[in-house]
Amino acid sequence: MGQCDMEEVFIAIGSNLGDRLKNIVRAERGLLEFLEITGRSHVYETLPQYVVNQPPFLNLAVRGMPKMEPRPLLEALKRLEISLGRQPSARNGPRLIDLDILCFGERQIDTDELTLPHPRIEERYFVLRPLLDLNPNMRHPTIGKTIRQLVDELPIDADKGVKVISDH
Ligand code: AMP
Repeated sequence: MGQCDMEEVFIAIGSNLGDRLKNIVRAERGLLEFLEITGRSHVYETLPQYVVNQPPFLNLAVRGMPKMEPRPLLEALKRLEISLGRQPSARNGPRLIDLDILCFGERQIDTDELTLPHPRIEERYFVLRPLLDLNPNMRHPTIGKTIRQLVDELPIDADKGVKVISDH
C-alpha cells in the first residue's frame, strides 16, 4: 500500500441559494465519483460570515479517501459545482453550491488555484463545527492545534444563530 492510501480528505459543502438541502444532497452524491466517503457531519444552518447581507447557508463536511490527487480533485469539484447549476458569484457571496477541499492529508500547497489546508479554517465556525463532528482530535496541518482547540478559541458568540438540521 502506497503512502497516498493513508491520506484522508475533508471536503466542505455549502449552499445558500435555491433548494439548499437538495443542492447539498446532490453534491454529496456527485462526490462519490472522486471520493470514497467514510463519514459525514450533521448539516448546520449558519448565518453568513464576511458578506452578511445574504441568505443563511446550509453547511456540512464529509471525510473520505480520495480517488485522485489534489489538483485533479479541485478541477473535478469545480466541474461538479457547475453541473449542479452554480453561476459565477462574488467572493464570499451567495452560491447555489460551494465545494472546498479543507485538508488533503498533511499536504501543504500554495498556488493561485489551490491552497491546502484551505485558508481561514480556524476563523470559520461554519467549517469547524462540521469538522468537530468528524474528528475533534484532528490537528490542523499547519497551525498544529486540534479542531476542538480551534473551536474553543473562537469568539464566545461564534455559534450564534446556528441550527442543527440533523438529517437529510
Ligand atoms: P469558492 O468561491 O469558495 O468556490 O472558491 C473559488 C476559488 O478558490 C476556486 O476557483 C479555487 O481555485 C480556489 N481555491 C483555493 N484553494 C482551494 C481549496 N482548498 N478548495 C477549493 N477551492 C480552492
